[in-house]
Amino acid sequence: MDHRTKPHSPSSHGTAVVDALNVATEGRLAELSTLVDDLSTEALNAPAPSIVDSYETESSLVQARLGIASSLYTALRWKHEPTAQHCLRTALCCSGWAELMDLPPVMRDELELAALLHDIGKIGVLDSILCKPGPLSAQEAAIMDCHWLMGEQVLRGSSASPGVLDIVRYSRGWFDGKRGHCDRHGDDLPLGARMLAVADAFDSMTTDHIFRRAMSTQRAFDELFRCAGTQFDPDLVAIFSKLFERDPMAMQSAAARRWIGELSPQFIEQQWRRGEVGAAAPIPTLDSLFQQRLIESMHDAVIFVDAHRKVLRWNEGAERLTGLSGCGILSRNFIPSLIGMSDERQRPIADKDCPLAQAAAGGVQWMRRLHVNGRGGKIVAVDAQAVPVVDSDGVVVGVTLLMHDVSEEITLEERCQNLHDMATRDPLTQVANRAEFDRVQAEFVKAHRETKRPCALIMTDIDRFKTINDTYGHQAGDEVIKSIAHLLQTFCRAGDLVARYGGEEFVLLCADCDNATGAKRAEEIRVAFGMVRHTSLGQRCVTASFGVTEVQPGDTPETMLRRADRALITAKETGRNRVVQLGVGGDAAAGEDKHITATSKKRLAGNMLLKREMTSDSPLERNIEKLKGFVADHHAEITLTDRNRVQLRIGGDRGGPLFKRQSDRTIRLIIDLAFHEESYAPENNPRAMFKRTRIATMISPVKSRERRTAAAMERARQLVASLRSYLMATDVDGVEAVAEEEGGLWHSIRSLFRGAPPANAAAQEAEH
Ligand code: GH3
Ligand code: MG
Ligand code: MG
Repeated sequence: MDHRTKPHSPSSHGTAVVDALNVATEGRLAELSTLVDDLSTEALNAPAPSIVDSYETESSLVQARLGIASSLYTALRWKHEPTAQHCLRTALCCSGWAELMDLPPVMRDELELAALLHDIGKIGVLDSILCKPGPLSAQEAAIMDCHWLMGEQVLRGSSASPGVLDIVRYSRGWFDGKRGHCDRHGDDLPLGARMLAVADAFDSMTTDHIFRRAMSTQRAFDELFRCAGTQFDPDLVAIFSKLFERDPMAMQSAAARRWIGELSPQFIEQQWRRGEVGAAAPIPTLDSLFQQRLIESMHDAVIFVDAHRKVLRWNEGAERLTGLSGCGILSRNFIPSLIGMSDERQRPIADKDCPLAQAAAGGVQWMRRLHVNGRGGKIVAVDAQAVPVVDSDGVVVGVTLLMHDVSEEITLEERCQNLHDMATRDPLTQVANRAEFDRVQAEFVKAHRETKRPCALIMTDIDRFKTINDTYGHQAGDEVIKSIAHLLQTFCRAGDLVARYGGEEFVLLCADCDNATGAKRAEEIRVAFGMVRHTSLGQRCVTASFGVTEVQPGDTPETMLRRADRALITAKETGRNRVVQLGVGGDAAAGEDKHITATSKKRLAGNMLLKREMTSDSPLERNIEKLKGFVADHHAEITLTDRNRVQLRIGGDRGGPLFKRQSDRTIRLIIDLAFHEESYAPENNPRAMFKRTRIATMISPVKSRERRTAAAMERARQLVASLRSYLMATDVDGVEAVAEEEGGLWHSIRSLFRGAPPANAAAQEAEH
């Protein structure tokens, strides 16, 4: 045994005596008698006496006891004499002790041999470590630790009996099972091993070493008692101290006498041929030593159970986590209630549903979040992993349970989540806030454009909300805001996002959704919201207005948002509680395709790309106002105005923000518009008279021989759709027929165009 790493404070008695003597020489005679008393006490506390006082005695004793196996001892003596002497003294001590305890002769024989050779493995330890004067480093201590392993291999090679091997192996195990890398503890440790542990430590403590002076027997006993119950068997420590107190020499001399006088050479040699050692117990390999070290030093809990769920190992990590000591658990059956095991939602796991039994039965490992009762009754979240242990025949012989305390990580995760929520959510409604919307919309637009899929944006604002606040108070107003947020969420599809954009203004990003579908969805939301009876407003209903748009070629998130906002403003301006859609896309585009197909080659040859007649439910004046928005956004040039006629020129270097493609810019088009206001009586109210406007549109290229007819046609189509959105107009059904009809509206507009003087060469060109 090497006690270098154990903290023993050096004896201070020697210095005390010298100091005291100095005092005495200074003439303080009165204290002399006390000093003499001290000196005699010191003598009593001197290191333990030994009968092994010469090389000859040692040799004859070892020869007598070991026979031919004494060569092993001789090898140890050549390696490190102090260790060899320590072994002999320990063996004599153990032998005398066994006799005084009246142990059976077989046990005594085994104990003697085990004690004589228990440090034989030190032959394999480097001299630099064995003879190091100071304390060992952690690395050196680990190497020193391996001497047990080497010793066991030497003894096994010499065919030492299983009893001898067991005593040597288990003498390093702690009584409480916490240290010493043993699979047994307490009374399960062989009696000889427990005795050897005490005698070994006692001799080591009471002998001078290169790294530490000997302690007095008194201090050595103090240390034995201090470690009784943990490292040593407490009963044996008590017996040992009593016997030693009675006659320190008796134990050793009795043994020595027996060895020299009674043991016959034949008997001795028998010890080394006895028993078949091979299958008795597996030799721990260096590998297994590393594994044991690793398991003990792990912070995580490691638990081994056999096929019947008997606990074989319960490392310090398991003790720390559960607060249950290995001593009380080892050899008991593992059941979930033992550690208060509950599932991820903290529902207790019944003993009959033991997850370890399931792992053993299925032979499949699992990993899951569980909870266990930690120290002080605290419930601890753990990431648990159960690994079935399978032997070479594929039979499950046990299960390893690994538990990693994740309580700290969970609180960190929760804190991160809270911070993220605070940064991205609106506290009143819990939907995304404006910053989050801005972030998501940018990604959203980019992703949809890359994949060439449509996406729409619905913007909504509660109608006359100030009145609600003023009438019912802000608290009631807040409830209405929450209710529209909730409603918008219920209308969400996968990939959509609802955000609070401002006070009572919300946006809904619709994934994979075109303008027409977006408008349809907005209409559904509008109807649903209008039907909600608000408790906070005394069951009153509230309405909201909606603006819808679809992402356009060349759009940025800002232009898309501006268009939706413009649509919302228009919805407010045209009476509230309605849906207004701006921009091309969806059904409108499909409609255009139909018109393009219908556009005859004849008309294209006549240089006109498109003509369309629309109608808007507002008076002429209002249409002119809306046209201003179209002109501004498309950077159009007004080339002619004449009564109800307007001619615009679009494209070239003045390309607007909505059309960023180079090809769009280089195609220059002329849009001729003729407005015709008319009065009508609605069907449900024949007496009322309203005004609406018919708009005839013709689009032609500025250059009469525009070679890129397909591109120009597409551009014209986009412009017509955009115009329709800005003017909030709808196509007049059967427009083609009207166009061909003599005397129809289209005809009159055409004649109107014909009659007007050409504004410039380009317009003239367009006419031809
Ligand atoms: P309009 O139909 O034109 O939208 O009329 P409006 O009264 O709703 O006008 P506006 O949208 O400009 O007014 C919004 C009002 O909403 C202004 C503000 O007092 C109120 N508001 C903004 N945020 C909150 C909020 O968090 N809670 C409450 N209760 N009111 C809010
Ligand atoms: Mg409002
Ligand atoms: Mg508002």
